[in-house]
Amino acid sequence: MKIAFIGLGNMGGGMAANLVKAGHAVQAFDLSAEALDKAKGNGCAVFTTVREAVQGVDAVVSMLPNGGIVKSVYEADVLGQAPAGALFLDCSTIDLATAREVGEAAKAAGYEMVDAPVSGGIAAANGGTLTFMVGGSEEAFARAQTVLEPMAKAVIHAGELGAGQVAKMCNNMLLAIHMIGTCEALALAEKAGLSMQKFYEISSKSTGYNWSLNDYTPAPGVGAASPADNDYQGGFASALMLKDLRLAMAGAATAGASVPLGEHATKIYEAFNEAGNGGKDFGAIFTTL
Ligand code: NAD
Repeated sequence: MKIAFIGLGNMGGGMAANLVKAGHAVQAFDLSAEALDKAKGNGCAVFTTVREAVQGVDAVVSMLPNGGIVKSVYEADVLGQAPAGALFLDCSTIDLATAREVGEAAKAAGYEMVDAPVSGGIAAANGGTLTFMVGGSEEAFARAQTVLEPMAKAVIHAGELGAGQVAKMCNNMLLAIHMIGTCEALALAEKAGLSMQKFYEISSKSTGYNWSLNDYTPAPGVGAASPADNDYQGGFASALMLKDLRLAMAGAATAGASVPLGEHATKIYEAFNEAGNGGKDFGAIFTTL
């Protein structure tokens, strides 16, 4: 299959390389010359404009920083430029309203589009083990699966257009909330006279169990291995968690949903980022307690 890939950054670079490894012809574009050089080294054909990159393709995959960029790239250079019948897959994490708007614009121009945000970080992008949550029609999903599988551990049909972004924002809002709760419970246990390790042993087998506690324990040297054991380096950056929380808050406003703990978690990560901690793993909230 001939696939255009737009956005070859931390995530997109490895994803495009995995499409090449699976035997697809990948036509790559990024604004960064360095990213393009790397893609070339990984076997992609590189182009200096989006319009050239989408010529003759069966599918267009994008992995871009935000909704504004996704909208401008598709509206200016993909719609009407890619061949009729090409499938569009936006894997970026963006706001729900923009995901739906761009998908509808693609449909009006005669294309099928899915939103297909991912769970899993740079290691999963490089390793081809991302989880894709896909929003779009049954037919579009069936076509998307073939494109996504070489980059995936799992490809899940979430529902109609936008449902992938809904799944992503809800999952990451929940993740932020249980991470903060886990940090608070660990710190409280210690201060109240119960060692954090003993609390971990008990709560990880009790009703307090959750992924942040059981599999990614955010206190150094306690419980499961996590970036906490490496001074909160690597892992999932607090700046990216804040981005996802803001998308969830925008999505909640669009949907008219009440999310008081989500709002509070957003404020906590905002303060943490403003204090210069955006590069630290999101479990480093523990150090503020
Ligand atoms: P990144 O900043 O490393 O890469 C984005 C790339 O897009 C850059 O190479 C940039 O040059 C390029 N770009 C920007 N504007 C462009 C344009 N107009 N045309 C073409 N290329 C353009 O970001 P990333 O970490 O790869 O993240 C990409 C997306 O994946 C984001 O939406 C992010 O939220 C999501 N995501 C990231 C992670 C992660 O761990 N990094 C995990 C899950 C989801």
